[in-house]
Amino acid sequence: MNKPADQQSLPSVPMWIDGKPYTASSTRSGEVMNPATGRVTKTIPLGNAADVDAAVQAATRALPAWRDAPVLRRARVLMKFRELLDANRAELAQLVTQEHGKTLADAAGSVQRGIEVVEFAMGIPHLIKGEYSEEIGTGVDCHSIRQPIGVCAGITPFNFPVMVPLWMFPVALACGNTFILKPSEKVPSASMKMAELLKQAGLPDGVFNIVHGDKEAVDGLLNHPGIKGISFVGSTPIAKYIYETASKNGKRVQALGGAKNHAVVLQDMTANPSDLEFTADALMGAAYGSAGERCMSISAIVAVGAAADPLVAKLKEKAAALKIGPGDSMVDGKEMDMGPLVTKVHRDKVSSYVDKGAAEGAVMVLDGRGYKVKGYEEGFFLGATLLDKVRAEMSVYKEEIFGPVLVVVRVETLDDAIKLINSNPYANGTAIFTRAGGAARKFEREIEVGMVGINVPIPVPVAFYSFGGWRNSLFGDQHVHGMEGVRFYTRAKVISTRWPDANAVPQGFNMPTLG
Ligand code: NAD
Repeated sequence: MNKPADQQSLPSVPMWIDGKPYTASSTRSGEVMNPATGRVTKTIPLGNAADVDAAVQAATRALPAWRDAPVLRRARVLMKFRELLDANRAELAQLVTQEHGKTLADAAGSVQRGIEVVEFAMGIPHLIKGEYSEEIGTGVDCHSIRQPIGVCAGITPFNFPVMVPLWMFPVALACGNTFILKPSEKVPSASMKMAELLKQAGLPDGVFNIVHGDKEAVDGLLNHPGIKGISFVGSTPIAKYIYETASKNGKRVQALGGAKNHAVVLQDMTANPSDLEFTADALMGAAYGSAGERCMSISAIVAVGAAADPLVAKLKEKAAALKIGPGDSMVDGKEMDMGPLVTKVHRDKVSSYVDKGAAEGAVMVLDGRGYKVKGYEEGFFLGATLLDKVRAEMSVYKEEIFGPVLVVVRVETLDDAIKLINSNPYANGTAIFTRAGGAARKFEREIEVGMVGINVPIPVPVAFYSFGGWRNSLFGDQHVHGMEGVRFYTRAKVISTRWPDANAVPQGFNMPTLG
């Protein structure tokens, strides 16, 4: 599709191939919006198989020299990149806010979490060390090494335009792979900035490339024989599709999907005012921060026993007081708590879940539908919404909403809470709020979820641990970053060595045994 007349004056985001901006061969294009104003700000090419092939060719040409570069040299490029990210963190956060809508402080926090993955990857000389065993047989030694897998690709979602790409490519590059990023077509600009910073950091051309696009570009990556590994973060149906298609094509895949994260609140945390305040504050940020568009957002509270009434009353009071507006605006010298949702389509979908919740019999404690911000009437805003007495069969409980809608499910016991959470198809993150050590320990041991917080509402692992869920929140075996990231982007090789001397015994026909 050629650009309509009203788009012709808008800047178009180029792709990035072989160390420079690349003009797509595809003629299809999409729109990049500012969600606070509801206006189109840029256009973006939606790449095709030819664009993907151009990126794979560049990444393939760059591979031998980068793979063979001494590991310290690769680490030093990342060290320089880290310094440049640090120097440009304000601009990166602004790009995130402009295209995603989240508040500047929240965007800055996500940039920081991304930088921490680069800091982890800078330690690659240590992380990639192999093992060595001397004299495993007479005159025989054995060692293992980890080698890069080749050209890798990353496909990322709209909600963390800097952090999620940084979960992937710093580790991939540190390990000696070359990389093609397909960022979300809704938020492309921060990736382009990072490509420029990588070049300034001394990364050789072709080692890092960006192809923009939607399903067509993704299919190009999944079907290209030159790509050996695919990292994906996004919604569950697409994660499953990516996993199945890329695996069928013989690629290594890690595909992280959607989430429905529960916070269990035990009665002891609502029994005194300061614990209740602490718990409700923690849940505010976890549920409504980034307008609920986080895969680690708390979207369901499981209130145990008598915890429910005081908790719901406190949450209502706090949620009603949230400041909602453009992510880069201030009121009385303070930032907003919540910005708009990413698109009108998504805002309307989230709003329709609130309709469904009401129709299915949930109690509407706070209704954010129809929320308008003065001066930003076309922005994609939705007010904080709180639904109580939600039951497990309701769609607002079963499905990922990915917006500022928090549901409360009431149960009798901790066992009921654990059973409920372990029956949910998603299993990304969860948290428990209590001062009872025994209950927390039981929860930690029995809960079948990938990331668990104890009085920590968003237990996103730091960069030197690995991030990933269970069940429908992850397709594949290895989580991202940390040591699992290093394992994903490398293959192990084990070498047995003998330097025969004059007395060496000749090898026979039988299965060799040593010792
Ligand atoms: P999405 O699945 O719609 O898109 C993710 C990526 O897949 C994008 O790059 C997009 O262009 C591409 N894509 C979309 N449709 C496709 C199709 N039919 N075929 C091939 N590729 C396609 O996700 P989103 O809306 O951008 O992001 C929100 C989702 O991501 C939520 O479900 C959220 O829970 C999830 N998420 C998960 C994690 C995690 O770590 N588990 C982290 C962040 C976001």
